[in-house]
Amino acid sequence: MDKRAAIPNHKESFIGSVNRIFDRAAATLDLPPGLSEQIKACNSVYQVRFPVKLRGEYRTFTGWRAVHSEHRLPTKGGIRYASVVNQEEVEALAALMSYKCAIVDVPFGGSKGGLLIDPNEYEEDELERITRRFTHELAKKDYISPSLNVPAPDVGTGPREMAWIADAFRTQFPGDINANACVTGKPTTLGGINGRVEATGRGVQYALQEFFRHPDDVKKAGLEGSLAGKRIIIQGFGNVAYHAAKFLTLEDDAKIVGIIDSKGGYLCDKGFVIDSVAAYRKENGSIEGFPDSTFVEEGRKALEAECDILIPAALEGQITKENALRIKASVIAEAANGPITDEADKLLSAKGTVILPDAYANAGGVTVSYFEWIKNLSHIRFGRLGRRLDEMRGQEIANALEAMTEKEVPASIRKRLTKSVDELDLVRSGLDDTMRDAYNEIREILNARPHVPDLRTAAYVLAIEKIAKSYLKSGLSH
Ligand code: NAD
Repeated sequence: MDKRAAIPNHKESFIGSVNRIFDRAAATLDLPPGLSEQIKACNSVYQVRFPVKLRGEYRTFTGWRAVHSEHRLPTKGGIRYASVVNQEEVEALAALMSYKCAIVDVPFGGSKGGLLIDPNEYEEDELERITRRFTHELAKKDYISPSLNVPAPDVGTGPREMAWIADAFRTQFPGDINANACVTGKPTTLGGINGRVEATGRGVQYALQEFFRHPDDVKKAGLEGSLAGKRIIIQGFGNVAYHAAKFLTLEDDAKIVGIIDSKGGYLCDKGFVIDSVAAYRKENGSIEGFPDSTFVEEGRKALEAECDILIPAALEGQITKENALRIKASVIAEAANGPITDEADKLLSAKGTVILPDAYANAGGVTVSYFEWIKNLSHIRFGRLGRRLDEMRGQEIANALEAMTEKEVPASIRKRLTKSVDELDLVRSGLDDTMRDAYNEIREILNARPHVPDLRTAAYVLAIEKIAKSYLKSGLSH
């Protein structure tokens, strides 16, 4: 089957959706004439076609890298490998990256890349050759560069592809001491950072935790209490979905009652044990037949099942005007980029569904990518200088307590006092702080400005204000 025929029509308007939301948010601001058009416009897109000799023939691949906003450099955004990707989609995703970085105060502009390929059709060594050639083509034109444009993983790519990109770039520019910072999401043994693989899912968890710290917001959604016991349906079981589901069940006692992947939906009233599902899928190639679960052949139908929270974590355009009113969740956390079309967004908001928008909810990945980039530029692991000092201080405090009280400090307390923070602790702390601060900035705008109707518009307002300030301060006309 031609996979493109499977694209619903609404996909064509992904960029339209992003721009319409932008326009609504910009209309609530008093910006100098023309500035919002400049912020909204995609600055440049590079389309490349390149041949790779595979299985005795030349195959031509098509890829894109869009640079949306360069108010801060480098620009940042993932590279996806998918059999359905096009220039418009990459431009829409690049725009979202500009807004996302501004919302979570990460000093990057927005970019995104895509390669039209079904990775499942290729062997690992073939994918490596394709990735190296794609890197070479993009780097030639500065669409990969530690100071100008830094990709990261997205759908269909992960640490393995990022390691190939870094190595290809280093080979091309051996004199660049910062070459390793040309891409983030690398394996930890090759300059990556602990906590990056889990970061986007972890960020979704932190976003939901922060939402539930505000009883007024929870009440507005028609819910009460904490995340504990909340029934969640998640679409996707890839990097983002798996980690979000795992942390929400293990650390917040939420229940994942539905999982939807490309093969269909799986419902389990008593809640899935996420690592058992992952192990089952590894063994059987699919979640179908997982004990105590019901299979729903048409995956999108399972989005409409009973739950408190829905986490679309797969693809864009999944909730449209066609199915929006049948969605039962009170809260939707957009882990994927653009899973709700603009028309569906209006219908959902009108019926009181609270939406944690993608530009905020899935910003964990780029936040930790920022930490990785800083680590690569500083050429030192976070925590390396202070670790033993932390331990020594802890010992001194414990010793002082013993001297003052003439009692032995219990071993468990001494252990806690002398524990030094490592890279993962610092990354999680920085990510948690980022997600909390950003949510509070967004809700402040929502609560203080009568013309701002929802969290998504508020998030865009926050982004546009920050980008506008940056443009105006740097002097646009020069
Ligand atoms: P992934 O490739 O690891 O997983 C994608 C998942 O989507 C898979 O489980 C697949 O089965 C599922 N899927 C594909 N087609 C589907 C369909 N038609 N119906 C239901 N499920 C389907 O990708 P990922 O990295 O987890 O990314 C998921 C989403 O999160 C994307 O929108 C991506 O842009 C966004 N995102 C990812 C990151 C990141 O760090 N990886 C960061 C920010 C946003």
